Amino acid sequence: MASKSIREFDVVVVGGGGSGLAAAIAAASEGARTVVLEKSTELRGSTGRSVGSIAASGTPDQKRLGIADSADRHLADYRVISGHLAATENVELAMVLTHNVTETVAWLREMGMEFFGPVGESPHSAPRLHNVLPGSRSYIYHLERRARRLGVVIELGVAGDRLLHEDGRVTGVEAHDAVGHRQTYAARRGVVLAAGDFSASATLKREWIDDRVSRFVPVNPCATGDAQRMALELGGQVLNAEVFDVPSMRLAPPPSEGLFGLLQKLPPRAAVTKPIRWGLANLPNRLIRSLMMGFVTTYLSPREALFDSGAILVDTHGRLRSNTSENINLVVAELGEDGGYIVGDRTLYEKFSSDPHYVATAPGVAFAYMPDFRRSRKDVYAEAPTTDELAAEIGISAAALNKSIADAAASVTGGAAPLTEGPYFALGPVRAYLLQTNGGLKVSTRLEVLGRDDRPIRGLYAAGNAGQGGLALFGHGHHLGWAFTSGRIAGRNVARAASAQHLAAAE
Ligand SMILES: Cc1cc2nc3c(=O)[nH]c(=O)nc-3n(C[C@H](O)[C@H](O)[C@H](O)COP(=O)(O)OP(=O)(O)OC[C@H]3O[C@@H](n4cnc5c(N)ncnc54)[C@H](O)[C@@H]3O)c2cc1C
Repeated sequence: MASKSIREFDVVVVGGGGSGLAAAIAAASEGARTVVLEKSTELRGSTGRSVGSIAASGTPDQKRLGIADSADRHLADYRVISGHLAATENVELAMVLTHNVTETVAWLREMGMEFFGPVGESPHSAPRLHNVLPGSRSYIYHLERRARRLGVVIELGVAGDRLLHEDGRVTGVEAHDAVGHRQTYAARRGVVLAAGDFSASATLKREWIDDRVSRFVPVNPCATGDAQRMALELGGQVLNAEVFDVPSMRLAPPPSEGLFGLLQKLPPRAAVTKPIRWGLANLPNRLIRSLMMGFVTTYLSPREALFDSGAILVDTHGRLRSNTSENINLVVAELGEDGGYIVGDRTLYEKFSSDPHYVATAPGVAFAYMPDFRRSRKDVYAEAPTTDELAAEIGISAAALNKSIADAAASVTGGAAPLTEGPYFALGPVRAYLLQTNGGLKVSTRLEVLGRDDRPIRGLYAAGNAGQGGLALFGHGHHLGWAFTSGRIAGRNVARAASAQHLAAAE
């Protein structure tokens, strides 16, 4: 490691995902000279890889549809969704989320983001999912634009390593770039840790969860728990370290070539998103489904229910890995990067072609059925009149596939039917990724990081997954809501804090 120099800012934000960019914008809007350190060479994070839905109540979208809803009702539902974690969850933080997220959605919208919805999802008592158009890259695009306009300095390929402190107050961050140059970023007012979760750290997953989870493939390779580690060194506490989102089997997003690829690369500005929003409301269902399935969808997650109706899971050698929904996501997770295929026949195809038997939830269209995949997702859907032809189509051994189908037929359980009737289909490859871990730093409602004695570590704030503070954030749309909401609050508070020099002068 070479050359160490010092650069001075009011606020240093570690992490350039959703929470970090929100914090930087909020801080810069208060007049603070702000820098964002981003370990990756691009701004994206888990935020830019997500489906993009946010749960919010009392929005103009709900009102337009005559849906009566409130933050208190959202909080009550949220507490139900938290399940066994509700007992230990900090209700005040849950309130910070549910009572500020509506303003957050308006704040995002004011930057140019468009939303589709709201879409309902049980057990929410009202439709609350607002899906950003055309997808989650829109968040990063607009947040980056606003941050740069406000003069935020964004340092790509720079990883925060260690917090600097003096007399119990955090004064900056020591960081390094891709070639090992060390750099010190002094923070006159404070530091916001917004470096996400630790789903990509085998060490932390092994230490805080278990060995099996340590081998699960993460979606975001930069999510290595750096914020949690840095704050622990100063007495910070990690809550819910053992809680993780069980990997769910997912299909890869649509390819980035061809017409859909071109559409995906268009800047997500009003000229693109307004027509999409209009189309969703006005175009014929079949046309809009094709567009959304190819353009907007991301890592769709096929339902376990397919296996209860007879689908089988084979690996890339054609070997049977499961014919029941029991622990199916974990079985797929064990297949690692290679993944496997979900195989079914005509009966299964017909069953999963209409309500209520959807294959996956999907942004824009809400629910995707087999014909949607057949029509619009040829990259993950194969079909053939016989199993031999299907095997050839997906490049696996026909003998192995036939044996898998026969073995599964010999052990069918419950309402499942053996696969007997062509045409046969294969969905895949399907892989199970670890979306995120939920162990975040304990924080106050001002997003200050709390030390061993539960008193704020002066000059240190956390947001997003890094500052999850014991919140469960179960159910769709709460993680993004928390990332942007906590980022905004942390950024505003750190910028309004008295600077270290100011405090010293006063003393
Ligand atoms: C496939 C997928 C789908 C999802 N869909 C949804 C959804 O629809 N709705 C929802 O609410 N939630 C969803 N989530 C969860 C949600 O995306 C995350 O919880 C949220 O984006 C976290 O935001 P963040 O700012 O905390 O982290 P991130 O967006 O991951 O940002 C953290 C950033 O910090 C950087 N970083 C890490 N270490 C360092 C370091 N040492 N120095 C500098 N930078 C560093 C990382 O590179 C990253 O850019 C989904 C997640 C995944 C993976």
